[in-house]
Amino acid sequence: MKLSEFYWHRITPLHFLLWPTSILYGGIVSLKRLCYRLGLFPTTTLPVPVIVVDSITVEDKSKTPFILWLVEFLKARGLRPGIISRGFNDNTGTPIAVTTSSDQDAVGGKSLWLAHRCADSPVWIGDDRVAVAEALLKAHPDCNILINDDGLQYHQLERDLEIVAIDYCEQNIGNGQIIPAGPLRESLNRLQDVDAVVSNGKINHKFDTEEWASIYNMNLTKDIFHHNLDARNCITPADLSNKRVHAIADLDSAQWFFDHLLNLGITAEFHTFADNHRFKKKDFQFPDTDVILMSEEDAFKTRSFTINNLWVLPVEAQIDGALREVIIKNIRDKFQGLKLINIMACPLCKGPLRYGKSNKDELICQSDQLAFPIIEGIPVMQKSKARDLSNKNETLFKVA
Ligand code: ZN
Repeated sequence: MKLSEFYWHRITPLHFLLWPTSILYGGIVSLKRLCYRLGLFPTTTLPVPVIVVDSITVEDKSKTPFILWLVEFLKARGLRPGIISRGFNDNTGTPIAVTTSSDQDAVGGKSLWLAHRCADSPVWIGDDRVAVAEALLKAHPDCNILINDDGLQYHQLERDLEIVAIDYCEQNIGNGQIIPAGPLRESLNRLQDVDAVVSNGKINHKFDTEEWASIYNMNLTKDIFHHNLDARNCITPADLSNKRVHAIADLDSAQWFFDHLLNLGITAEFHTFADNHRFKKKDFQFPDTDVILMSEEDAFKTRSFTINNLWVLPVEAQIDGALREVIIKNIRDKFQGLKLINIMACPLCKGPLRYGKSNKDELICQSDQLAFPIIEGIPVMQKSKARDLSNKNETLFKVA
């Protein structure tokens, strides 16, 4: 347990020294937000819906599996999401597109892994989130919704929906204090104003949750390991009894990963490497080992070499069905106020679209001869769902 973890979960005499800094920090965060709400600082509204996904504590890892779920959910509804994030080391340069072939030292392991998991959704990073979003939309005109990872306090960019993920089974909200006295990045009162809180584990906490925004259940599956070279080959913690187990993580994920293995009853020798460590094969050479365990995110950094006894822990999120309705209603409301042909592009040729002549519930790509349906206010931009116009003399016209 790190020293910070020790005093983030209890009140100690040291807190009398930390509280003034926490109060000052919390005050600055609240004041900054108030200034944006009063319109004293300029904000940017993008032409597409923006969903902020964040955590309220510094160590909570549950927002990443939620983002992965959200990307798949939006794609299944025919939307084409993009992800923007602060990225690695608060890089202040120009916006960077992250692809699976990006350099880990330049973009950070987490962004690289997101790009790998969300293969057909663009991932862009940079400190100036407005510039990052605009660069992404310019490079990917077919992208029609953005997920702002880690953007709760980035008020320059307007958002249509704010969702906070909390994992009560791991970090939770500790002693309820703002950093440095506790793990909170802002006051718990902030949860009254977000649109949704997704929670893994118990909902009734010692802090009053009734005042918070609607809470939706998030079930995180994280007790099945799969083989690094064959995801169909799985083991459970029970299979690891009487095995010599080593667990490896970089500093960023070591806390939750090792605690989680202990919670699963797994006895292992733990090895921590520097944050964003570039793993080498020699990092995995132990004289006495049957099994090596890593998180899926860390294991992705070993993809350039083969380790036969490496098992990987994926974290999958299942989400309360009621939240799906909240998300869809919000997107529909945003789209209703817009002319869809101004913000949608063909997913195949990236070209402009037109409304159907007789049926305004379709968006038509003339060059691909496809009509994409608009179902309950949401355009379904999938070739498999589009109507083929190539054999019909469909007359097209552009709505002014
Ligand atoms: Zn097209």
